[in-house]
Amino acid sequence: MKVIRDAMEMREWSLAQRARGKRIGLVPTMGALHDGHASLMRVAAAHDDIAVASIFVNPAQFAPNEDFDQYPRTWDEDVAISEAAGIQAIYAPKASGMYPPNYSTYVTVEGVSDGLCSLTRPHFFRGVATVVAKLFNAVLPHRAYFGQKDAQQCAVIKRMTRDLDMGIEIVEMPIVREADGLAMSSRNRYLSGEERERALCISRAIFAARDAMQHGERDAQTITSGVRGRMNEVQIDYIELVDAATMRPVPRVEGDVTLAVAGFCGSTRLIDNIKFCPDIEASPN
Ligand code: AMP
Repeated sequence: MKVIRDAMEMREWSLAQRARGKRIGLVPTMGALHDGHASLMRVAAAHDDIAVASIFVNPAQFAPNEDFDQYPRTWDEDVAISEAAGIQAIYAPKASGMYPPNYSTYVTVEGVSDGLCSLTRPHFFRGVATVVAKLFNAVLPHRAYFGQKDAQQCAVIKRMTRDLDMGIEIVEMPIVREADGLAMSSRNRYLSGEERERALCISRAIFAARDAMQHGERDAQTITSGVRGRMNEVQIDYIELVDAATMRPVPRVEGDVTLAVAGFCGSTRLIDNIKFCPDIEASPN
């Protein structure tokens, strides 16, 4: 497996693959890989001729008071996981190469970036959109794979790709969970045993809400109050029922919705969500 650290070298490599008629799939990550990441990689390896993963802890999406320094860096394991999942090349640029002195160009995606995660992390989506645009320019993928785990991020990337005519297909992949329901996340390693136990209230709360929606509940207030009551072991950041495409709050479940939540378990911020499509999932009674 090839490891490339320079944007221009990455481009040359990808251009050579494209010249051979190969289609490239990209899985952007920040490393500290788990089976959620690997699920995206396996699908890229199965559906594209060449599967590339990027591993880059992006300083532009962390505020000064956040966990950039502590963010887990597990390079050797990441390489092994990527290779086992069928990745042919890892693009792992250096921060100094990505953001050289006087770097001053950022991508802002309006509307879908508002609310939800932006409320506590106002810098976040500008950093994400910028780094993903840069990764796209270096790797030149035909397709890129993102997890529904970060639902708002998916919506932001889809919008950016469309608005900037990037011509890259964005594939949104389902959330991979631990056996007990907790959504896999690189940040789960921050949790103590007791916090890990408490964190389960998050997935339990949104599963109960899905159940209620499947049984016909349509009122956003009722649904989010139920979730609030069940997420009682963490400090709630937000609980919102939003339109699945625009990420704008909705008063009722009419079209496809995302129930998105975030909470602090100790000092660790965890996010989770479920999508609900009433036309497909509503039970007949
Ligand atoms: P990250 O390394 O956390 O930036 O995540 C890289 C990609 O993996 C993003 O598209 C995430 O949405 C996706 N991802 C992270 N956790 C999961 C999960 N539990 N299931 C599916 N995809 C995930």
